Amino acid sequence: MNSLHLQRAFTTLLAAGVLAQPLAAGAQAAGDMTPPAQALPSLGDAGDMTPLLERKLGDAIARELLRDADYLDDAILGEYVDGIWHALLAGARARGELPADLDEGFAWRVMLGRDATINAFALPGGYLGLHTALIGVVRTRDELASVLAHELSHITQRHIARMLGRQSRQTPLIVAAILAGLVAGASNPQAGTALVMGGQAVGIQQQLNYSRDMEREADRIGLAIATQAGFRPEGFAAMFETLQNAQRLMDNGDWPYLRSHPLTTQRIADMRQREKINAPAVALPPDLQALLMAARARVLSRPGVDTLHAWANAPDSANFATLALPQRAAVLYAGALAQAQLRDLPKAERSAAALAGLVASDASAARQARLLQAELAILAGAPQRALQWLPAAASGGRGKAAAARDPQGSQQGRAELLLRAMAQTATGHARDAATALQVWISDHPLDAAAWQQLAAACNAQGQTLRALRAEGEAQVAQMDLQGAIDRFRAAQDHARQHPGNRADLIEASIIDARLRTVQEALRQQKQDEAQLP
Ligand SMILES: [Zn+2]
Repeated sequence: MNSLHLQRAFTTLLAAGVLAQPLAAGAQAAGDMTPPAQALPSLGDAGDMTPLLERKLGDAIARELLRDADYLDDAILGEYVDGIWHALLAGARARGELPADLDEGFAWRVMLGRDATINAFALPGGYLGLHTALIGVVRTRDELASVLAHELSHITQRHIARMLGRQSRQTPLIVAAILAGLVAGASNPQAGTALVMGGQAVGIQQQLNYSRDMEREADRIGLAIATQAGFRPEGFAAMFETLQNAQRLMDNGDWPYLRSHPLTTQRIADMRQREKINAPAVALPPDLQALLMAARARVLSRPGVDTLHAWANAPDSANFATLALPQRAAVLYAGALAQAQLRDLPKAERSAAALAGLVASDASAARQARLLQAELAILAGAPQRALQWLPAAASGGRGKAAAARDPQGSQQGRAELLLRAMAQTATGHARDAATALQVWISDHPLDAAAWQQLAAACNAQGQTLRALRAEGEAQVAQMDLQGAIDRFRAAQDHARQHPGNRADLIEASIIDARLRTVQEALRQQKQDEAQLP
């Protein structure tokens, strides 16, 4: 299943919610997505769906997404997107657009999906789905911020709650169950398509998109939030233009984002007016880091082996030298990553070195080039070499505080931490890796990849009990509570069979407590599900 199917499932689910009760109004004329007036609550009324219920619904979806083969936990891309997302959240907070109950109660988590369709969609409970292909067409951070800010506003304005509350006021948890079932069953793409293609569902789906008022509100508030967060307002118009260009270039019909967010002349005119731009679209200066991350996202979208070959060969092509510097940098990044995927690591490392030379004067891009070099060295089985691009964090420069001071993470971020831990573990310095990861995890207890890396570092030191606990915590972070319980139980068995030293005794008592906590959480989760008739 991919996240496109998730979205199909989501819209189908909404349709199912409607089908449970007779449609109040007849089918709307095709193309008119405005719900009938009597069914439209006034903006600001979130219906009967409480934030808690919406979060539970979101969790049910997120649990399925995290198990999806196309879910992508990429340290480099994830950190780049999270940097923009957290800046927007801070902007929303500063503008009073993020009520305290939502701020604390929602997940505020971006989930990346490897997907060749250009899409971004808000999910219930503060989750946001973002396809790699959308990142792949973006030219500046401001453009990506415009899409994220728009979707963020759908969440903060409770647009999803309003739609769901309207459709299934009586039994919102039915919605969660149907959705979870649909998502789980959608591993057969044909099944998902068939559900959506049912004639009735198509008609209903049109009414279940956000209303035009909601879209206008998301554009307006999104722009204010992005501007507050320090992004250039021109990013909105630029993103419209990017989408239009990309649509012209890659007309493969996979445009769910444009289907749900048509670039009507009205919408563009509204936005231009808000930006007070009367002239044609203002070109933003090149953003090297955004171009490199777009290149990475394109390669990670599983473009197929022919495309990989084309990208791998592009740095050698005749017209490479004629390109402007930003384009050459993007070609080199995509080339290096594509060459690595095609198992030509020496060539990949040469491309990455050429990239590093080209972008040396741009701090953010130079950092991305270093991270790429480190990643490729690890892939090439040379972790020692990787460490030269991953100098140890300066004292005092560790953890959350450093990341907050440096939202772009131009020096040290999660990506360095994870790559360095991997390289250290592979070169006999697992103890240093474990120490750094432990510090990070105390600030980021839901970082599954960090827990997973900690488990590897513990195993490398023969600390089986600690490793099993870390594996259990990684499962908790992935929202797989049963999986976590299994790991914690395995840890208890190990502790019984290998009565250890004092450190192990302390670890064992922590594991006992964690097991009880997670068992209780799973009981609660099942109880929520059991509320269904
Ligand atoms: Zn929207």
